[in-house]
Amino acid sequence: MLTRFAPSPTGELHLGHAYSALLAFDAARRAGGRFVLRIDDIDGSRSREEYLAASLADLAWLGIGWDGEPVRQSGRLASYQAALDDLGARGLVYPCFCTRADIAASLAAPHGPPNSSGGAIYPGTCRHLGETERARRAKEPHCWRLDMQHASAIAGDLHWEEQGQGTQIANPRVHGDVVLARKDAPASYHLASTLDDAAMGVTQIVRGADLIASTDVHRLIQALLGLPTPLYRHHALVCGADGKRLAKRDAAASLAMLRDAGTDGPVLAADLLGDRLPTGYSLRMP
Ligand code: GLU
Repeated sequence: MLTRFAPSPTGELHLGHAYSALLAFDAARRAGGRFVLRIDDIDGSRSREEYLAASLADLAWLGIGWDGEPVRQSGRLASYQAALDDLGARGLVYPCFCTRADIAASLAAPHGPPNSSGGAIYPGTCRHLGETERARRAKEPHCWRLDMQHASAIAGDLHWEEQGQGTQIANPRVHGDVVLARKDAPASYHLASTLDDAAMGVTQIVRGADLIASTDVHRLIQALLGLPTPLYRHHALVCGADGKRLAKRDAAASLAMLRDAGTDGPVLAADLLGDRLPTGYSLRMP
């Protein structure tokens, strides 16, 4: 059994991160397994070393210990590229030169179900470009998108096991041609996270229920690349007094703030593990 917590060092950790990290840590501890950290630091413009150091200090304050050295996504770029090359050789990804404005303009009206990042489904404009056009524009900024129809046809029916809830059907098609490598980052969350979890040998993914839709896409990437499928647990989200889930801007719920106010880390950890939240906070499924 191996679980993980994967903070993005783009802000301070809050009660929601603490809850997620504790559930993953506790699951491993109870099973006599291991718990590892992965640092999602390939968003170069927003990731900062100070946030990483503060996050590690917050976890230690809660009494969370991790096995081995944290794995940094910034050290795994070659694996992301290798996977993209593999998918490219099989005709499953294509370069997309569209700007946000291009995409908005080609969507005359809001379309279909939103994709996993809450946006509209990509209309597929660049999927139809010929090889000559692609070669001519190769130097322009572009991302790489998965040809969803082709990929999901190859993969067939997909499922995953959700802890305590049984088998779930993965529905990657509703996400359209998702981005696997961004214009500004060598891999998207979907690609990097799926590859890392497999490379690190994660057997159980514990994360917020806001990411359950992403699992459709992750399950497809696993199938395309022959990666194992871990067990999943998508947990309820910590919400503030307004009933909305916490965001990095909610300074009052930041662990640094609670620590500075004299909160006892291990006591808070035990309370969170028992679903007892500080006054004004609650757990909700999205
Ligand atoms: N870095 C991602 C986040 O903070 C990790 C998500 C995941 O656990 O897969 O949202």
